[in-house]
Amino acid sequence: DQPRPDTAGGTPEEVLHRVFGHPAFRGRQEEIVRHVMTGGSGLVLMPTGGGKSLCYQVPALCRPGLGVVVSPLIALMEDQVAALRQQGVAAAALHSDLPEEQAREVRRDLARGGLKLLYVSPERLLLDGTLDFLTRHPPGLFAIDEAHCVSQWGHHFRPEYRGLGLLSERFPEVPRLALTATADPRTVEDIRAQLGLQDSPVFRGGFDRPNIFISAAPRESERGQLRAFIRAASDGTGAGIVYCGSRARTEQTAEWLRGDGHDALCFHAGMEPEAKREAHRRFARGDAVIMAATIAFGMGIDRPDVRWVAHLDLPKSPESWYQEIGRAGRDGLPARALLLYGAGDIALARHRLLESPAPDEQKRIERARLEAMVSIAEAATCRRRILLRCFGEALGPGDPENCGACDVCRNPPRLFDGTVPAQKLLSAVLRTGRRFGVGHLVDVLRGRVTDKVAQFAHDQLPTFGVGKDLSDAAWRGVARQLVALGALDVAIENHGELVPTDAARPILKGEQRVMLRAETVTAAAPRDRAGR
Ligand code: ADP
Ligand code: ZN
Repeated sequence: DQPRPDTAGGTPEEVLHRVFGHPAFRGRQEEIVRHVMTGGSGLVLMPTGGGKSLCYQVPALCRPGLGVVVSPLIALMEDQVAALRQQGVAAAALHSDLPEEQAREVRRDLARGGLKLLYVSPERLLLDGTLDFLTRHPPGLFAIDEAHCVSQWGHHFRPEYRGLGLLSERFPEVPRLALTATADPRTVEDIRAQLGLQDSPVFRGGFDRPNIFISAAPRESERGQLRAFIRAASDGTGAGIVYCGSRARTEQTAEWLRGDGHDALCFHAGMEPEAKREAHRRFARGDAVIMAATIAFGMGIDRPDVRWVAHLDLPKSPESWYQEIGRAGRDGLPARALLLYGAGDIALARHRLLESPAPDEQKRIERARLEAMVSIAEAATCRRRILLRCFGEALGPGDPENCGACDVCRNPPRLFDGTVPAQKLLSAVLRTGRRFGVGHLVDVLRGRVTDKVAQFAHDQLPTFGVGKDLSDAAWRGVARQLVALGALDVAIENHGELVPTDAARPILKGEQRVMLRAETVTAAAPRDRAGR
């Protein structure tokens, strides 16, 4: 038997070069690989395309024994196995779609120790026969891909994944590496609990897309703003996407763009299948083609040269925005994203959530995501930094203040010293007992005796009516910016009440000044000026 290149082993760097042909590890890969090499378990959170596979493939090839990879999708397994074999790695897949003859061959290879990586569906893994085999031949590691499937919390729950909890009991010595692109905190905690990873580290990384310049602006002259953006962002060949909040708006926008001399298409879920396919085809091929679409346009965009993505309406969460702008610049060349938003959008989105028939808990979470999105739109500090924080990631080593590739960093907005309004708001939060959302707090600040104010005797508080100098909209702006600055949290688990963080204390004590964006806070609504 010739020694196979993969079983020759070596250091992780050698395997990375020799087997995978990459010159260096990317992001946190190296750290993760080292951790697994020394027998550690953990959870890896990286976006799609972030390079999760190498995190378990490299240690599997370096460590003695078999690397067992649990994967929920047969097509995904087959792709991975085919790619690995091409690279000379002894890999195979075991799942229910495999013809019996091939399954027998895989088992034979396994029995004689001829495999380094086995991709397996959770059902197959949990069969007594498989578990017994693995007990007799302890694997070098378990990788649990698409680990969010273990959580009932998301939309991808797979009951078979629940059974994977037994791996930690039956194979306590074998490192377990769970991997997912989902960074939602609830799901993350659920994965850790289900897979027995509570005491193991979580590695987050790779969410930054530094080649995408991100910007946001209040909507003024929508079309003028879009026109200027396209002029700056388009290179005359690559494509662009305009995301719109409604089907009608995609059609109107495409028509307007065509009138403005562009090759523009539209796409939304209400179109006939054939029209959708045609739109996809034209988008895939066109030079300087523009798609005006709802979020239904997403799957199957494989153009690497989407040069820009614009949002005419506020996305519902930082996660969606991230995913949508992430369709730009896959070729690694400079790309741009523009987000337009208006106070009306925000109010409408909040209203829709209130009216939605979803369970309360889900509504609260969606509300918190919406508020996080608003705080990115309103940011007075680096937008990329706030966005990455939503995924628990820092901007870079030492978490620098400035990314250099967003509009705020490039052209810092006009700021004013908002310490006094910030103190008023924070003190209203404290005096009302940290139990209320922004609406009630604004009523208190502006001195309105609503039923709720009367019920809690909040008109007796010293902060009652101290905020008459600013409009409702301005107070909401102060609140959102304090959320963006991290001095206030929107309570996800409860009713969306504003809760001060440790960062609020120095502000209240006057030890720290707060700079707020002037445009948001000083623009009092006319109705308010007229003397409410
Ligand atoms: P994920 O599973 O996180 O979606 P993959 O593991 O499929 O991502 O990796 C995405 C792409 O990045 C692949 O084409 C892979 O070859 C490439 N890649 C991963 N790590 C590296 C690296 N260290 N150097 C260069 N390319 C890499
Ligand atoms: Zn920035």
